Amino acid sequence: MYDIVIIGAGPAGLSAAIYARRAAKTVLLLEANSYGGQIVNTPDIENYPVEEHISGFEFAMKLYTQATNLGAQLKFERALSIESAGDKKVVKTAKGAYEAQAVIIATGAENRKLGVEREDDMVGKGVSYCATCDGAFYRNKAVAVVGGGNTAIDDAVYLADIAADVYLIHRREEFRADSATVQKLKEKENVHFVLNSTVSSLVIENKVVGVEVSDKEGNTQTLAVDCLFIAVGRIPENQAFADVLSLDAEGYAEAGEDCITAAEGIFVAGDNRAKEVRQLVTATADGAVAATNAVKYMNSLS
Ligand code: NAP
Repeated sequence: MYDIVIIGAGPAGLSAAIYARRAAKTVLLLEANSYGGQIVNTPDIENYPVEEHISGFEFAMKLYTQATNLGAQLKFERALSIESAGDKKVVKTAKGAYEAQAVIIATGAENRKLGVEREDDMVGKGVSYCATCDGAFYRNKAVAVVGGGNTAIDDAVYLADIAADVYLIHRREEFRADSATVQKLKEKENVHFVLNSTVSSLVIENKVVGVEVSDKEGNTQTLAVDCLFIAVGRIPENQAFADVLSLDAEGYAEAGEDCITAAEGIFVAGDNRAKEVRQLVTATADGAVAATNAVKYMNSLS
């Protein structure tokens, strides 16, 4: 039996592990994929206090090292359910069942699909959700990025230094991304803004060779690109725990800034929690708050 099982080893989960270990609680982290979460796909983080520039990969490595050096245990297993048994919680995976006094769900969010025909078939053949993973394949080629949030704009900035041309396709005139990052993109000479437009289809000849784009007036144009990088937001990964969590209309877990859910002993931290600001710094802060409240909860049991 562990004191705390933390589901998800992204910035929120790893930060929770640091706080829980420093409170001398035993911690098991369960991670379905690789540790670090979505931030590993961010090429250059410029808005985390103290670090003027750090890659998402390096950030994740440091956080992982810090948590495991403090004694947090990590297993690469997908949590499938949480059950209550008296004061205990049981987290089940395909390999086993792990008992704990408290559970912190820090599962984050997965990439939202754009919804164009043959999108799934073309992953790895000119459709990508990760500029830092796949950008290097398109050196001196033309690529497109779709989206208007921080991820899309960061990706386009990154790709502009690799590709010959970058088309930034966004369905509106205004961006969700912060203005400093948008300004940085505007300064890139090889970036072409295709605004008020959506991707209507992929042009495919065994692999992607272009995208067809339609504007609000119904005009279409074909952009000759070798890859479409899709960055149209994320979907919270709470479905497996829908029976113990209360989810809002978009699937985010309802819990206040204290990260306490309606289910006793279950806490939620990071991008899968319903909240206003989803940033790296708020994910790590959630981890600290959730772990602190989980420790308080455990101490109240004894
Ligand atoms: P996001 O902020 O939700 O932006 C998603 C973008 O995709 C929006 O511009 C949206 O358009 C567009 N979109 C959604 N569905 C679409 C569709 N079907 N077709 C075309 N466009 C579509 O998502 P994100 O950029 O992944 O960022 C997620 C969170 O992480 C945000 O809070 C962001 O600030 C944060 N983040 C922070 C950093 C950083 O701090 N360095 C880096 C990356 C991400 P509309 O604007 O018209 O809705």
